[in-house]
Amino acid sequence: MSAVSDFSSRRPAEADYEAIESEYVEGRAIVEAEAAADERAVEAALRPRTLGEVIGQERVCEQLSLVLEAARGRERTPDHVLLSGPPGLGKTTLAMIIAAEMSTPLRITSGPAITHAGDLAAILSGMNEGDVLFVDEIHRMSRPAEELLYMAMEDFRVDVVIGKGPGATAIPLEIAQFTLVGATTRAGLLPGPLRDRFGFTAYLEFYEASELELIVRRSAELLGVELTDEGAAEIALRSRGTPRIANRLLRRVRDYAQVRADGVVTLEVAHRALDLYEVDQSGLDRLDRAVIDVLCKRFGGGPVGVSTLAVAVGEERETVEEVAEPFLVRCGFLARTPRGRVATPAAWAHLGLSVPPGAAFGGAAGQDSVQSDLFDAYDDA
Ligand code: ADP
Repeated sequence: MSAVSDFSSRRPAEADYEAIESEYVEGRAIVEAEAAADERAVEAALRPRTLGEVIGQERVCEQLSLVLEAARGRERTPDHVLLSGPPGLGKTTLAMIIAAEMSTPLRITSGPAITHAGDLAAILSGMNEGDVLFVDEIHRMSRPAEELLYMAMEDFRVDVVIGKGPGATAIPLEIAQFTLVGATTRAGLLPGPLRDRFGFTAYLEFYEASELELIVRRSAELLGVELTDEGAAEIALRSRGTPRIANRLLRRVRDYAQVRADGVVTLEVAHRALDLYEVDQSGLDRLDRAVIDVLCKRFGGGPVGVSTLAVAVGEERETVEEVAEPFLVRCGFLARTPRGRVATPAAWAHLGLSVPPGAAFGGAAGQDSVQSDLFDAYDDA
């Protein structure tokens, strides 16, 4: 498996997106097992193709459209773009749109696929003028590759090292001017020098329910699913602010409507289906609920380190940190403190439990202990 999917010989026309997507799936499956290939194929069909088609993220889209239009006006490649935000909010979609709006080919790779600086040098030296290179999970790139990237981003030059040991020599190699689009779920993990080399950084926010409702309706139309406004609203409400989840729930509800009802997604059908799939009224799924459940019932509401929490729910630390936590924090169910994770009163209430007297955030004693811990070191950073 090469570290990059090469689409340089083709323009990213409408018909090409499917092919781009399936190549991408293959490339990513190694590093992200949960991104099922069949889901990716459906997602490809649902992706907005232009900035105008994107629902929500208005500010980001407007800023991005300015960056791209200015670059077109100057007949230059746009500045490097960093897209930051939790999974499923549209980073890949925006990278594809940037290439499409600039009418340039898109090359796709990911941080974990670039294990050696040489992999990246090979990718970069194969780029043509104006190409867009998308590096997903850029925070997971190896350090030597990162250092090579600094120079490539700034001076459009890479050092190719010939030989090994004391006799090794670095030969500078000019590369074509390109635009790097980096995506990360953890902007904080990017080293300063790398972050500084992006001319434009977009922070993608979770979507409002009204925006998700529009996304659900658009996807339903593309998939040929009949649904009522109330059905769409119910799916949107339980989608955790995330288009990928909205689209996934829509497909599951569609299955339910087809098999257990007359094919139409009504409010009642959506209710029954989502209850069956264990997505609750607040949009918490099984993992979210497991996290607050374990936090409250096993650790008395915390504080507890995220690694411990991850082991207790049988998940990777990254999954708990990047998938469950952002939404739980946003819902006000969980707080991140320097000593670890703490359940809020809302979390206890969500589980139908009352806050025990000594719990952090529950009573004065708990508050004090969290406050004093603010000056302690991270227990498992
Ligand atoms: P990320 O790269 O951030 O994980 P993706 O770009 O792969 O997210 O988006 C996941 C899915 O969500 C895509 O299939 C796309 O159809 C949908 N999606 C994301 N953002 C939007 C949006 N603003 N409008 C409509 N659909 C969206």
